[in-house]
Amino acid sequence: MSGAGRDDRVVVALDVGGTGMKCALVRPDGVAVRTERHPTDAARGPAAVVDTILGIAEGLAAKARADGFTPVAIGIAVPGVVDEARGVAVWSANVGFRDVPLRDLAVRRLGLPTALGHDVRVGGLAEARLGAGRGADHVLFVAIGTGIAAAHVVGGVAAVGAHGAAGEIGHIMVRPDGPRCGCGRPGCLEAVASASAIGRRYAELADGRPDAPVTAAAVAERAAVGEPLAAEVWRTAVEALADGLATGQALFDVTTIVLGGGLAQAGDLLLVPLRAALHERMTFHREPQLVAAALGDEAGCLGAALLALDTLTADRA
Ligand SMILES: [Zn+2]
Repeated sequence: MSGAGRDDRVVVALDVGGTGMKCALVRPDGVAVRTERHPTDAARGPAAVVDTILGIAEGLAAKARADGFTPVAIGIAVPGVVDEARGVAVWSANVGFRDVPLRDLAVRRLGLPTALGHDVRVGGLAEARLGAGRGADHVLFVAIGTGIAAAHVVGGVAAVGAHGAAGEIGHIMVRPDGPRCGCGRPGCLEAVASASAIGRRYAELADGRPDAPVTAAAVAERAAVGEPLAAEVWRTAVEALADGLATGQALFDVTTIVLGGGLAQAGDLLLVPLRAALHERMTFHREPQLVAAALGDEAGCLGAALLALDTLTADRA
């Protein structure tokens, strides 16, 4: 750290997705001083992706130094199953990782303390500490996009689970006779109510061509102007989501549920009927506040930065 008055520390943060990476240099107060986006090109294989990740982190650290900042730690978020304690990307369908010791690789190459996290869990961390869940001690962040996953954040810490796989709310069975999920079981929440499931269902009923899906956003808009089929598909998805969230609330008893991911961009078209459906399902449980995420697609990158900053606090303790 430099002398009095000015904290020149930054952390290097990367959120690695199946198609792109969101990267930033972030100050301890959560403000990004530089942001970058890079393609993942996952088709090149995991070794090439790892090399790209480390190269980008190295480049960002060098840019930080050139701009008069001191890079002090690295935070990397990846999808799939992540063992945060060991810093290992255990498994990921869309990036191809299998037991990649990403944290140790980064430490070796950059010589900086590194934290590895799960993309949705760190996104939840960012929403809970800096975004829509700010001020609430018990937050359930639910990301609804191609799939559905959640993060349970208590006191600013996201639960990881014993095997790095906590928060798979998308695989709660909500419709035993429903469509088969990508995981192999029938009727999982994400097979019924993810953005892709909604689009697929609408296309199926509209003209029998499930291979030509309409986006969930388009279904929401058509439902809003009173198209009966869209309204029915939307209502069905909202009911299933309410069942999933009611189970989440029964398990976690949170004050606030933050909805993120692509589907949350439907705003009140989603929130208003979902609040009503959730309200109907509450018996003795306390009803959580249901709000839209505030940080958009920056949440994962900011969350990776928070994990990195947490390693510094842990080191000092
Ligand atoms: Zn499933």
